[in-house]
Amino acid sequence: MDDIAKKATLIDGKRFSEQLRERVADEVGRLATRGDVVPGLAVVLVGDDPASRVYVQSKQRAVTAAGMRSFEHSLAAETTQQRLLDLIHQLNADADVHGILVQLPLPDHIDPGVIIEAIDPRKDVDGFHPTNVGRLGTGQGALVPCTPLGCLMLLQAHLGSLAGREAVVVGRSNIVGKPMAALLLGHDCTVTMAHSRTRNLPDVVGRADIVVAAAGRAHLIQGDWLKPGAVVIDVGINRIAAPERGEGKMRLVGDVDFDGAFATAGAITPVPGGVGPMTIACLLVNTLTAACRIHQLDEPEGLAPSL
Ligand code: NDP
Repeated sequence: MDDIAKKATLIDGKRFSEQLRERVADEVGRLATRGDVVPGLAVVLVGDDPASRVYVQSKQRAVTAAGMRSFEHSLAAETTQQRLLDLIHQLNADADVHGILVQLPLPDHIDPGVIIEAIDPRKDVDGFHPTNVGRLGTGQGALVPCTPLGCLMLLQAHLGSLAGREAVVVGRSNIVGKPMAALLLGHDCTVTMAHSRTRNLPDVVGRADIVVAAAGRAHLIQGDWLKPGAVVIDVGINRIAAPERGEGKMRLVGDVDFDGAFATAGAITPVPGGVGPMTIACLLVNTLTAACRIHQLDEPEGLAPSL
């Protein structure tokens, strides 16, 4: 185990995200001086799903810790789609609000597509609006979904230029896999997207210099599939039974068999402590970026990768 432990470099997303959050807080302070602007994020929660409430609270804490304004809108589960649309329109028009985040999932009677399309694309800090999706796909400046943006930052911090590298993204969701592939392509990787219908996944993964695992399947990717030295970004968050911790106990694992991968990979993100903390830090980055663009102020240099 000691020999194994010496192989891969651990990509410490927690530390990187803390540094990023400090940098955002500095830039927020500077923005107040140069533009008399305080970035504001409105977070909308519909219903009382406990997990969603925890996510929302941690986002709000991060926003206020960075010196930004946080506006919470908690609506009852039976809120109508029209009532939610009215709120979105009100937030679109609110000059103090630079970012709008509607916590997903929404109750079944509300169509998330309709709600996302109602958000002003300039305030779409989740990067889910079709305008931002299209702008990312066509290489124009966009607000980019936070999780893939965080993965890109970790990859660049570890590898520098990504140009010419073979990248495999496992998972093709709209919030992680597809924007991740677009970002890697935009940074000149040769990109393969794998999904549940992909044939011979081990071979596909085995040719990658960069593997981004976002399938939501515990330990799907085995260490011996990896090309030696590959850089592995594990987005997956899976809760599995942990009888070694006591009866009924659970633990979080990624989509990659961490111990196996540690022996082969050049570098790997842990779960927890890898991509997860980067997602919230990138929400702060996107809110700051949105505020700068709305007020036509220069964006802080080097804070976010060029897109
Ligand atoms: P989705 O369920 O929306 O998408 C999963 C994708 O993985 C699908 O494209 C699916 O393929 C593919 N897939 C599923 N099983 C396999 C398989 N056996 N082989 C190859 N591909 C497979 O998930 P998300 O993208 O929303 O999330 C992915 C994971 O990332 C989850 O564990 C989630 O919790 C985590 N996550 C973590 C975040 C963080 O901050 N760290 C943020 C967001 C998500 P197909 O399209 O064919 O069905």
